[in-house]
Amino acid sequence: MSLPEKCPLCSAGRESQSVVTRHVYGGTAASHAFFHCEECDVRYQFPGLTADEEARFYAAEFEGFMASRSGEAGGWQKAEQHLVANEPTRQRRMKYLAPYLKDGLDLLEIGCSSGFMLYPLAESGHRCTGIEPSGVFSEFVRGRGLCAYQSLEDLQHAAPHSKFDLILHFFVLEHIANPAEFLKAQLDMLKPGGRIIFEVPNAADPLYSVYDIPAFERFYWSVAHPWYFSEPSLHFLLGQLAAEYEVLRDQRYDLSNHMIWARDGRPGGMGRFTSKLGIEVEESYKQSLIRSGTCDTLIGVVSKKGEV
Ligand SMILES: [Zn+2]
Repeated sequence: MSLPEKCPLCSAGRESQSVVTRHVYGGTAASHAFFHCEECDVRYQFPGLTADEEARFYAAEFEGFMASRSGEAGGWQKAEQHLVANEPTRQRRMKYLAPYLKDGLDLLEIGCSSGFMLYPLAESGHRCTGIEPSGVFSEFVRGRGLCAYQSLEDLQHAAPHSKFDLILHFFVLEHIANPAEFLKAQLDMLKPGGRIIFEVPNAADPLYSVYDIPAFERFYWSVAHPWYFSEPSLHFLLGQLAAEYEVLRDQRYDLSNHMIWARDGRPGGMGRFTSKLGIEVEESYKQSLIRSGTCDTLIGVVSKKGEV
């Protein structure tokens, strides 16, 4: 297997690139692999999906693919189930969104799926718009009375001068071929004092970086992700923007989930042993991972320079 000529994020040369894994979950081409750049610490898929492959993937395959990854509990097949399944996720995110939620904001979520983040925000007086490429979900969101478009281009066509106080996206940036351009376009859509808040998986996920579970390695590196960011590589990306930013840490999965990965080599253990372990143990475990930086999630908070 040949190494990429240079890092697609920081342009460091071939001598700084090495293979992370050839196990690309959901991949068909044996020639795809994930690489690591020693300079900026990003992991990336090479070669990436072509524009055609990507369009096909998102139009037709994404919901089925996600359902196969998350199993029945993820509820991707039915938007109503998706809302219920994601209530704990919504509550987790609200903890760090709350300080930014002043009265009556114009709020945009890119990749809003079933809209589970947006309905309670709309009910508390924010004007919410969603972008969702999945036809099933964007129709569902419109059916619930919110503005929803299938792409940013559709929004810009329908309402060319829209500006927002908050632009949110959760587990979207790692799917985007050009993440710097993607974020720059959002900075242009912010009102003065506005912010972009987003989540990405942390490449220092403990199932990979601490426990090194082989079954997890085969599951984690997904064909849907051109990128896996770590804290240093996210700092590199955000440092290129005319923006102020901070990077926060979070831990989504609990000790029960990690124990099932270690025992059975599969996902799906969330909450399984919590009644025995006690919620304090689960919480303290998450906090330890967050403190050490070997946690599964990173949060970016970005605003235009001079407007923090
Ligand atoms: Zn690099």
